[in-house]
Amino acid sequence: MPPRLPFGQVRNLLIQGHIIRRMSSQHKVYVTRPDVDDSGLELLRKSCQVSTWHETNPVPRSELIRVVAGKDALYCALTDKVDKEVLDAAGPQLKCVATISVGYDHIDVEECRKRGIRVGFTPDVLTDATAELTLALLLATNRRLFEANKQVYNGGWKSWAPMWMCGQGLKGSRVGLLGFGRIGQEIAARIVPFKPTEITYTTRSLRPKEAAAVNARHVDFDEMLRESDLIVVCCALTPETKEIFNATAFQKMKPNCILINTARGGVVDQKALYEALKTKRILAAGLDVTTPEPLPIDDPLLKLDNVVILPHIGSADIETRKEMSRITARNILAALAGDKMVAEVEL
Ligand code: NAP
Repeated sequence: MPPRLPFGQVRNLLIQGHIIRRMSSQHKVYVTRPDVDDSGLELLRKSCQVSTWHETNPVPRSELIRVVAGKDALYCALTDKVDKEVLDAAGPQLKCVATISVGYDHIDVEECRKRGIRVGFTPDVLTDATAELTLALLLATNRRLFEANKQVYNGGWKSWAPMWMCGQGLKGSRVGLLGFGRIGQEIAARIVPFKPTEITYTTRSLRPKEAAAVNARHVDFDEMLRESDLIVVCCALTPETKEIFNATAFQKMKPNCILINTARGGVVDQKALYEALKTKRILAAGLDVTTPEPLPIDDPLLKLDNVVILPHIGSADIETRKEMSRITARNILAALAGDKMVAEVEL
């Protein structure tokens, strides 16, 4: 006959057993960054076992492949390529990949679809921040703000001069948007008060109601290239839009045209862009996104005066990034519970 345990000890063992059972039934979530806003991580920690990469640079691929094994959900960022190899390494229990971004070109969504893995993203919440940054970049490039600012520090500012550091106004310009979705429409709305001559947009589907709100006209890609003084790239990166701005496209653009890209670096053939800028085939470019990211500091683009480059900060306003963290967490919790996600990519 085994010795009888005191009641308190039995109760403690039962509680411990319950906790261990609860823990083992908790979903396992891997977060590829430790520095996403904690409000999102807190939501996950309430009911999941959460582990994170520990450095503020992207998790190395070999590490991701190692740690994703056995996880039920992956919380990732645009710096993480989530392809077949990562999904294979995760295993069949993986139910959800949620990215803290609206762009999901880094995720093999077709492979997710085949495996029944749900994909979450963060549209809408970052639309205003990205549209705002696009306007800032557009004005900075158009009016040569960074070039002029350097002159203040390097002694180039000798005196006021009538034609020195002149740029182009937005007023009276023809603005073409490649992409007229959530962000494109908000960019257009912010351009209207600057009194452009015309706003045009190029997309596969017509958006008559949204276009009417900003008096925009749908044009094909070639017409946009030929007619625009300013082109803003705000479309998704897909096989169709990959390097759509290539040498042929630059040949068709007006020599005073300025190209702004706040979508994805891959939409632009960067070597062709460099040539177009260097030879003054086009006037200037403003890029929030490049290939690769970060752009190496010896990249030839950085030697040119007629380009403004930002380090992919389109959605980088504090409240936006906090909310993006929470939405990513809520997407995961919903997917794990089999509920409707806040924002799910249609597969
Ligand atoms: P969205 O609402 O889905 O809009 C995407 C637009 O791209 C749509 O108008 C779509 O129109 C158009 N498009 C797709 N394929 C096209 C093609 N082959 N030719 C012409 N147009 C095409 O997405 P969003 O929320 O506005 O975001 C747009 C992109 O911005 C994201 O995918 C992301 O890569 C980028 N982004 C960057 C930052 C940053 O930090 N710089 C921040 C947020 C977003 P049709 O489908 O009718 O063709």
